[in-house]
This record gives sequence, C-alpha cells and structure tokens, in this order.
Amino acid sequence: MPAAATPADKTESYFPLAGGDNDGWSNEEEATATCFCGAVQLKFPTQGPGLIYTFVCNCADCRKVTASMFASNFTVANTHLTHVRGRENLSTYAQARTIASSNTMTNFFCKTCGTLMYRCSSAFPELSVLRIGTVDDFSLHETKLKPMLEQFVERRVGWLHPLEGVEQVEGMWLPGK
Ligand SMILES: [Zn+2]
Ligand SMILES: [Zn+2]
Repeated sequence: MPAAATPADKTESYFPLAGGDNDGWSNEEEATATCFCGAVQLKFPTQGPGLIYTFVCNCADCRKVTASMFASNFTVANTHLTHVRGRENLSTYAQARTIASSNTMTNFFCKTCGTLMYRCSSAFPELSVLRIGTVDDFSLHETKLKPMLEQFVERRVGWLHPLEGVEQVEGMWLPGK
C-alpha cells in the first residue's frame, strides 16, 4: 500500500525565498508581494478599505496572461498600494482588443523574471489588480486572500470544477450587480 502523503500545514506562514532576499513579511494589516526573482516588491493592505475584493477569473485573457488556465486576483485601492522596490524594473504591456469590457488593460511585469505583478483597467484607474500567487506569506492565500467569487465561469476549462462555496458569476463581476 502506498504511504499516504503527509498533508502540509497550510495554516503556518510560509515565506519562500524571493530571489536573493528572504524578506517578505506580513502583519495584521499589511503584507508584501514579490516577483519570482525578488527585484520587485509591493506592500498592500490585507483588509478593507484598501483591500477591495478577491477573485478567480477564467476569461481568455487570464489564460494567456498567466500562461495557465485561470488567474487568482485581488483588487487594491492605489491609495493603499506601495512600491517597496523595483518600480523602475516594471515593464508594461497594454491593449484593449481582446478585453470583454473593451477597456484598456495595462499589465505590469518584472522585466527580469516576467512575473505579472498587477493589472490596471482604464475604467478603474484608482485600482490595481494584484496576483494572489505573488503574496509572500502563503498562509494568506488560505485565509484573508481566499477568493470571494469566481467570474467568467462559462469560460472555465472543462476539467476544472467550480471553487467550492465560492460565488459563481457569468461574465465579469461588478459591485452591486
Ligand atoms: Zn522579478
Ligand atoms: Zn480574466
């Protein structure tokens, strides 16, 4: 009989080595998000009003831009977002052609390692959409940053299931809709 895999303790904070620096952190109100190589680091709030909402998106753009099948995101008010380091190391790519809302989405990537740190929509210039996977304290992926909703569910690849206990939305979720 194969030995059962030991389940990882996901309640513990886990700070991966983000490039040369093992310097991510979190406290009650804030945490860091760092690119894969460590050059770019952001600081963001882990609660309202700065943290707006958390979501998974299955749209076609999210597949392409993540090189995966969906994106796991959270939206932050720019007034509460700090570039700790590496802002000059961000490169941008913007287009509106494939965006469902026909707004221009600008993507901010680390020039060195290619990690997509955040996206901004021309319709909501006061907000940035960050990536849950870039957050250094992995215990937050399980708790405060757990997705509240899943959108573009009609686009979800057939071999993935809906997120259990998470609001399912066709198309883009808009507040108050
Ligand atoms: Zn990087
Ligand atoms: Zn999307």
